[in-house]
Amino acid sequence: MSNIWYLSPSNQSANIGVDGYGSEKEQMNLLVDEITPHLDRAGVSFHRGDPDITIQQRASESNDMDACFHLAFHSNAGGNGNAWGPVALYYSEAGKRFGQKLVEGLLALGQQNNRASNLGQNKGLYELRKTKAPACLLEVDFHDSAVGVAFLTKRRSEIAEAIARCIIEADGKVFVPATSEECTQLCLDWGLFDLSDGLGWNTSLTRREASVLVVRLKDLIVKEVNSQ
Ligand SMILES: [Zn+2]
Repeated sequence: MSNIWYLSPSNQSANIGVDGYGSEKEQMNLLVDEITPHLDRAGVSFHRGDPDITIQQRASESNDMDACFHLAFHSNAGGNGNAWGPVALYYSEAGKRFGQKLVEGLLALGQQNNRASNLGQNKGLYELRKTKAPACLLEVDFHDSAVGVAFLTKRRSEIAEAIARCIIEADGKVFVPATSEECTQLCLDWGLFDLSDGLGWNTSLTRREASVLVVRLKDLIVKEVNSQ
């Protein structure tokens, strides 16, 4: 098995949501657009399925690259406008475990939810049935309800971060903050540098300064190792 996560945003351009949602394909690609930078910063290996290939091609690509996990992104329908909340569909136990994490991560955002169950086994869906890797098909929320669409569109960045955090944790990596403010705060918290020189974020380090950071990081690592 490789260490590659196969990300498969819906290619269903004919599934149109309410309230100006547009298509499921468009929205799921926008979501994955916001997930992948988090994965890049954390050093997670992934492949994103081309938007215009079929799910059959996605499954065979995923199998050819021996992906470690196959994750499909969808928005739900068929709720008559009265359904909302995430649903993770899986085939195997490994898919179920990850689906559970995704659902927990989304609900922790305060996502409204009226599903009796947020997890379901489905052995019929092509991308669950035909992929060798453990797989999960996440229905992030319903695009045929106003509540679902509001969550999907207004809180996309938070959804993306929550999903990315699940992937990063499952991959054994550490989430790296996105903004310079967050990174600066982390560096201050860890004592890596202070801001007393008044220099801005884009100031370059000399080799000497970079070496000081390495020594400080080594100290942190040694303290952490010794405390275990
Ligand atoms: Zn779908």
